Amino acid sequence: MSNKAEVVICGAGIAGVSAAYHLSLRHGVRDIVLVDERPPLSLTSAYGTEAYRNWWPDLPMFRFMDRSIGLMEELARESNNAIRMNRRGYVFLTGDENRVQELTEEADAVSSLDGGALRVHRDAGSYVPSRPEGLEPDLTGADLLLDEDAVNTLFPFITDDAVAMLHVRRCGWLDVPSLGRWMLDRIASRGGRLVQDRISRVVTVNNRVRGVTLESGSVLETGKFVLAAGPLVPEAGRMLGLDIPVFMELHGKVVVEDRAGVLPPEAPMLIWTDPIELVWDNDERETRSADPATRYLTEPFPGGLHIRPRFRDGKQTFLGIWTYDIKPRKAEFPLEFDPAYPVIILRGLARMIPGMRAYFETADAMQVDGGYYCKTVDNRPLIGPLPVEGAYIAGALSGYGVMGSQAAGELIAAQVTGAALPDYAEDFSFGRFDGLSSDDMLKMRDATRGQL
Ligand SMILES: Cc1cc2nc3c(=O)[nH]c(=O)nc-3n(C[C@H](O)[C@H](O)[C@H](O)COP(=O)(O)OP(=O)(O)OC[C@H]3O[C@@H](n4cnc5c(N)ncnc54)[C@H](O)[C@@H]3O)c2cc1C
Repeated sequence: MSNKAEVVICGAGIAGVSAAYHLSLRHGVRDIVLVDERPPLSLTSAYGTEAYRNWWPDLPMFRFMDRSIGLMEELARESNNAIRMNRRGYVFLTGDENRVQELTEEADAVSSLDGGALRVHRDAGSYVPSRPEGLEPDLTGADLLLDEDAVNTLFPFITDDAVAMLHVRRCGWLDVPSLGRWMLDRIASRGGRLVQDRISRVVTVNNRVRGVTLESGSVLETGKFVLAAGPLVPEAGRMLGLDIPVFMELHGKVVVEDRAGVLPPEAPMLIWTDPIELVWDNDERETRSADPATRYLTEPFPGGLHIRPRFRDGKQTFLGIWTYDIKPRKAEFPLEFDPAYPVIILRGLARMIPGMRAYFETADAMQVDGGYYCKTVDNRPLIGPLPVEGAYIAGALSGYGVMGSQAAGELIAAQVTGAALPDYAEDFSFGRFDGLSSDDMLKMRDATRGQL
């Protein structure tokens, strides 16, 4: 192997692979080395729900995501949809008449950012359901359906007290392993290399990147180094003498083989927006509330529980995820989830989908996986140059690293090659936190903005 590279990327998660893809395929950089101590896309990027949405409350994130979705559509077309991208939408549900106003305001806000029209339906007559497969690039905006009976007819498996639904259309999901394979194959076909090793040191001379040392002992000379180390970015940043301003939240999901057929395979992403009391019978509730260690299981959880079907490896499953625990942490491995998490998810889901009772008895033993959302205080990513010449970062992709991967790859590739930058580049710069004390950062903290 040549011990020189034009660009070395630390991390072959979705951020690193997308960076390499855009450098290689869109800018013609041939000599790229992706270094990862693990197999590609096997840390955080392997454990998400793989979903995307243009539903963001602030302009830079909206424009970034909209661009990213556009680039994913291009990739879907080029690959004959090998990445299995669909446009099923996100369906936000409520059982509370008072929330309808809030849903309307949220929809109006996104609409005003150029997110497409909000269409209000008093009955199902003019509402068009989404197709389970394929892309509908022109389908955008959102549909607010205010007819309880119509919601029930559309989704008969949902509780009959859902009073309204907001169907956001430029959303869906894709297959991350296929997306990763598609990009890696093309990077390799253009001369890019993948090296399984750990970067243990970055060599700098006069504050300029000169190379990296690998744990195996090899040295790679390079003048351009991209940090795409996911939740390990604080540690990786220290190799450059930098304090990367991020923290982690640990989020899990359950993957349940849907043997009871509770969630139709063609369902969209479903999100219950009201606070939820887990479904217990009276005895169960009493026992739990009597014990301080389990009392929290009888108290209301915040809204935002979501579920979507997935067919993979010959099995029809559903993925359940609920990001209620937003305690900031440091990344520690192996991951440790609350042992009650699958019970919380299943008993929460039963509020929205009563058929989930079929899984109550087995919930205790259900497997949980997931990873860290690596975040900044404003929940925007860090993409751009670092204060060491030749060093860049593509990270802090929080809970949106898959949907944002293409715009992130495009932006970091433009930064590295000196190409024209999009208008949101400055909003994601490392420099935006320059001169801020940790107190200032605490004050500007808005780390759940846009998080579902
Ligand atoms: C439960 C859950 C659900 C999610 N759902 C969604 C979703 O629906 N949609 C969405 O868009 N996003 C979602 N996400 C977020 C998304 O998964 C992440 O934002 C994304 O995977 C981050 O990718 P990454 O490449 O930055 O990090 P990672 O995938 O963690 O990759 C970082 C890589 O860097 C390597 N590395 C680090 N340090 C070194 C070193 N020194 N030397 C060599 N290699 C190194 C690691 O081995 C690792 O492979 C979800 C995340 C979770 C946890």
